[in-house]
Amino acid sequence: MKNSDNKELQVDAIIDQEHVVDILNRLIFNNTVPHALLFSGIQGIGKRICAKLFAMSCNCFNNIQLSSGDRFCECKSCKKIKHGVSPDVIEISASNSVIKIDAIRDILEILALKPFEARLRFVLIYEADNMTPQACNALLKILEEPPEQTCFILTAVNLSDLPATIISRCRHIRFAPLKDKSIACFLTDKYGVSENEADIISKIAEGSLDNAAMLKDKKSFDYRARLIFELEKITLTPIFTSLFLAEFLFSDKKILKDSLKIIKSWIRDIMIFQLEPDRIINFDFKSGIETAATIYDKKSLYSIIIMIETIEKKLSSGINIRLAIENLFLKIGICR
Ligand SMILES: [Zn+2]
Repeated sequence: MKNSDNKELQVDAIIDQEHVVDILNRLIFNNTVPHALLFSGIQGIGKRICAKLFAMSCNCFNNIQLSSGDRFCECKSCKKIKHGVSPDVIEISASNSVIKIDAIRDILEILALKPFEARLRFVLIYEADNMTPQACNALLKILEEPPEQTCFILTAVNLSDLPATIISRCRHIRFAPLKDKSIACFLTDKYGVSENEADIISKIAEGSLDNAAMLKDKKSFDYRARLIFELEKITLTPIFTSLFLAEFLFSDKKILKDSLKIIKSWIRDIMIFQLEPDRIINFDFKSGIETAATIYDKKSLYSIIIMIETIEKKLSSGINIRLAIENLFLKIGICR
């Protein structure tokens, strides 16, 4: 029962997701909030804050609806939920990427009682796809005989990691990646990132504020420049230098995920440059991209992107990817 919200970007409003807002407001209006909801979608698109704001709207004394953008209400119920002190909103997060059975067992006693003061009690299980099989079973038992006046909201990235028996008991709502423009505005308005940098970051972030968070500070932005500089070198120097670049990436595993996004954006730029030069993301590296566009053919570039996406998938599953990274850079080196 803890809220380990340690995301770098502090989001306190729903960004984009108009269809989600519509569905949820209709549930409140028609008084048909189900026992369990499942919010799915990539990381960093506001599933967690939306769950909390929905709990606020369901219990708001002023009946303030959900909305995209800021939602203001100073009623007692909203304030308590906002500050995480409502006894009727229970938050469960993964600890070390796992939600164990104890976290589910801990709430049984509370669920046996009626809500303390809320019209509707909420159990918010963030990153529910990190539940162990035992935790899933314990939750399934609860969902089979749901407690009164209680709504469970599960958030998840990888639906394949959740048992079908749990998914089928939830009203499933899919969240869309954020628009580039929304991410750029968020970075400039709330974090003072320059428009130029925000524009580039938003395009590399693939619709996720988590990805944008990794790139937003100056150090990361300079790192992007350094990485692209190294990539450009691969296109002009002997093949073995590409292995040095693989080594360089492994010297800091924390930003490996970030690096893959940058490499992908650079490869895409080379593809796009041949068709619409004005639409490239890394426009501050235009001349290098122009050179690379004369060296690589489309088929090779496409196969490199597939390789990167395969590595990205393996990255979240914890499989050793050193060999895959080396192969990627050899491919980038050989294809020229
Ligand atoms: Zn309120």
